Amino acid sequence: MPPELDVQRRRMVEEQLRARDVVDERVLAAMERVPRELFVPERRRRHAFADAALSIGAGQTISQPYMVARICEALALRGHERVLDVGTGSGYQAAVLAELAAEVHTIERVPELAERARRTLAEAAYEHVRVHVGDGTLGLPGHAPFGGIAVAAAAPRLPDALFEQLEPHGRLVVPVGRRRGQELLVAVRSTEGPAIVRSVPCRFVPLVGEQGFDA
Ligand code: SAH
Repeated sequence: MPPELDVQRRRMVEEQLRARDVVDERVLAAMERVPRELFVPERRRRHAFADAALSIGAGQTISQPYMVARICEALALRGHERVLDVGTGSGYQAAVLAELAAEVHTIERVPELAERARRTLAEAAYEHVRVHVGDGTLGLPGHAPFGGIAVAAAAPRLPDALFEQLEPHGRLVVPVGRRRGQELLVAVRSTEGPAIVRSVPCRFVPLVGEQGFDA
């Protein structure tokens, strides 16, 4: 019989996150708490803690745990922030963010995925996460400014509309590059303009929208 889910989650945190380079204890604790298995389609549950992205239907994926942790760590959240999560997908990253910030808005362009994520978030007791449907490259001007914005899909360049919706010192974390390979970029809104810190190479599904790739 496979080990209990909480044992598998703890192992994921130790072997895939801590053993690499994730050091933020709040992020590690959040990833140990959120029931990732609920965000994975039922027939793939036995792979829920694999060190990989997994298909969730509609040609989309739930991100690899390591990338979720890196994005959350790069946002440097303290707990009081309002954050925006672009590319809801399964809702997993939004749930992890809900453990780290005060208010979470997440936006998805595929209505069926948004609807499923809404149900899963409720099932996992994150019903306070607000799920929106629309083009996330334009952000959510009605709810801005945000202390942090996480994008879980690849953009051809830094999406200006999102950067503009950051609070002073807020951070935008987004994979930027080509369709087939990107770098996770961290842009901090400073008084002198965007301070860009590059981090790991990565590969995400494309961000499709006005300030993203064409469909
Ligand atoms: N954070 C997700 C990973 C989702 S993959 C998780 O934890 O499961 C990226 C998602 O971004 C896909 O669901 C895709 O449909 C969505 N997406 C792509 N372009 C988008 C856009 N312009 N606005 C909102 N969502 C978008």
